Amino acid sequence: MVRHEESVQIRAKTAAGAAEGEERLKMKQIIFATGNAGKLKEIREIMKDTGFEVLSMKEAGLALDIEEDGATFAENALIKARAVCAASGGIALADDSGLEVDYMGGAPGVYSARFLGEDTSYGVKNRYILDKLAQAQEEERGARFVCVIAAVFPDGREETREAVIEGRIAREPAGENGFGYDPIFYVPEYGCTTAELSMEQKNKISHRAKALNRMKEEVLCRL
Ligand code: IMP
Repeated sequence: MVRHEESVQIRAKTAAGAAEGEERLKMKQIIFATGNAGKLKEIREIMKDTGFEVLSMKEAGLALDIEEDGATFAENALIKARAVCAASGGIALADDSGLEVDYMGGAPGVYSARFLGEDTSYGVKNRYILDKLAQAQEEERGARFVCVIAAVFPDGREETREAVIEGRIAREPAGENGFGYDPIFYVPEYGCTTAELSMEQKNKISHRAKALNRMKEEVLCRL
């Protein structure tokens, strides 16, 4: 009896979800799987000339706790986009990003946010990396920010686009802008760290902006 009621409820929920999803497609809405206001602003800026409206999970009425347990940036981005697509019935976008340091075998990589513990400050995380590389020569200090954007569609189609920004680990932290590992990420073309760039400058060259632009041009604008 309970089982039957449950299955009826689930069917009703799925039917409502499908109708809502169709409505979202008609209205050209995309849901971006993030709670980060800065990322939302960046993607809205990039998508503003496409006719798509980008909603946050909150705006779409979703409160999901998604565990990012993938082994790669692409897996983590897909895990988030799949969950949002399944819950909303609409097109879902998600990103995953991090810092790869050559001298540390690509670490912290997908663990960038959790590196040395989620609650450890970036002052401490950055100092740890600088100390690790204390003996590293200039040519051994290569590093990159990587970003993968995933798009998952109600018909099951999945797309990912990756982009990087190449640089090297500075000798000392510099700059107050940005967040996370920006103060120790030196970009030779600009002669400064990404924490010394303005938000506008960084958004033009960032791994996230490049991956989002690729997704926009190669996938979303061709729907
Ligand atoms: P997520 O993609 O929001 O999960 O971010 C992963 C982590 O990678 C962040 O918490 C930062 O530690 C690091 N990260 C990603 N992109 C950047 C960046 O542009 N600057 C500095 N740190 C970054």
